[in-house]
Amino acid sequence: MSELVGALDQGTTSTRFMIFDAEGNVVSVDQREHRQIFPRPGWVEHDPVEIWSMTTSVIEGALARAGLHASDLIAVGLTNQRETTVIWDRETGEPVHNAVVWQDTRTAELCLALGGEEGPDRFRDKTGLPLATYFAGPKARQLLDDLDLTQRAERGELAFGTIDSWIAWNLTGGIHGGRHVTDVTNASRTLLMDLATATWDADLALEIGVPTAILPEIVSSIGLDLQCVGPLDGIRLAAILGDQQAALFGQACFMPGEAKNTYGTGNFMLLNTGETPVASEAGLLTTVAYRRGKEPMIFALEGSVAVTGSLVQWLRDNLRLFDDASEVEPLARSVEDNGDVYFVPAFSGLFAPHWRPDARGVITGLTRFANRGHIARAALESTAFQTRDVLDAMVADSGVDLRELRVDGGMTANDLLMQFQADILGVDVVRPKVAETTALGAAYGAGLAVGLWSDLDEIDDLWAEDRRWSPEMEDSERERLHHRWEQAVQRSLDWA
Ligand code: ADP
Repeated sequence: MSELVGALDQGTTSTRFMIFDAEGNVVSVDQREHRQIFPRPGWVEHDPVEIWSMTTSVIEGALARAGLHASDLIAVGLTNQRETTVIWDRETGEPVHNAVVWQDTRTAELCLALGGEEGPDRFRDKTGLPLATYFAGPKARQLLDDLDLTQRAERGELAFGTIDSWIAWNLTGGIHGGRHVTDVTNASRTLLMDLATATWDADLALEIGVPTAILPEIVSSIGLDLQCVGPLDGIRLAAILGDQQAALFGQACFMPGEAKNTYGTGNFMLLNTGETPVASEAGLLTTVAYRRGKEPMIFALEGSVAVTGSLVQWLRDNLRLFDDASEVEPLARSVEDNGDVYFVPAFSGLFAPHWRPDARGVITGLTRFANRGHIARAALESTAFQTRDVLDAMVADSGVDLRELRVDGGMTANDLLMQFQADILGVDVVRPKVAETTALGAAYGAGLAVGLWSDLDEIDDLWAEDRRWSPEMEDSERERLHHRWEQAVQRSLDWA
């Protein structure tokens, strides 16, 4: 029996295919970026055809690098950027438009209108989500409206899906019998799924204006039996998980009360709440963490922060403070502290726990003393403060007293940030040895489905600590800094 499992990670900026062995070690990887298309301020698109072409290319690339063939893989798992919306023609297989990316804000007016007098929480009881531009259902409605395609959609000529659906359909044959599916974690980000039953809700579809004829079949996350053709010919697609849920799985946060925080373009903290969907009062999302076969769903509370690593990119590209993201740390260390400068990066409003689309970015506390080092430091600290706000909301909603936080993602390479994070949270921050937790989670799901790993305990045993940061700050200092941050947040509101 093969002991190698593949993971396809279709992310916001790039697509990678990774091959893992039974110990969770990386055997091979190939990765390619795709274009970010910005037609107008606030709009972000991807070309689905380009994404599919990158997908086949990285699968072939990773196999070739290790001298392997698809048939050497026991199974494959898929993980994906969530909420990004594609509509395609079932007969030709061609997308009717570019994909509308999760960061895209074109549905702001639609979401306001859908909320009506009840406001953004109108569908929260059923879906676990506020009405926000982030989610997929209204993006689909917007596309159908803008392209005048509602009738074609009603006739069943079109297919809607988030990126997992688009990739799975193509992997399983496309116009030649491809399976039109989405897993329950991705479906839980559409505003169209009833969280209690994991089924599409006809009333929601009607209210939001998405004909049910275009929706994919909702399947479990782990234990799928979808046969691939093409670059993965004959291999079983055995798991699909949204990227943040995959990272939670890859971090082995299987027990209620365990949480991970991913520091990438944005930040995403997920807390496993077990078989209970915890309704949030503090501004978090209630979402599906994963579902194995016919077992009960496992739920999570999620805090999504839009701008963290992308603020470092902004310092690099828009302010030209440095040439490479890694240089932000020495620059921030060139000053003793933040010099009372705070940077609230509300570039597309504030996501969790505030959900304020009217907020915009501000830098506060500037004096003649402040220099580029203070700006860099304030930018890094903003990531830690935003994480603190999300963690406070998690504690308020769940009553869980978090002992440590498992972290992953590109920004965890930043030692200054990780130490400040532990200081400002007052809990240990821990990074695992395998940093590619998203792809790893998809591989774990697929391997679990085919018996490469027999149970969750076996996967839990593979998790190994690489680095730990413990709080060193006095409580009073922690609260003083956090209070200043809250004052800065106030100054970002009511702008747009
Ligand atoms: P994604 O999967 O969202 O594309 P990654 O996990 O690859 O993101 O992380 C990339 C992000 O991390 C970028 O936004 C980049 O600016 C940031 N980043 C990379 N290295 C550092 C560093 N040393 N310090 C701070 N931020 C960093």
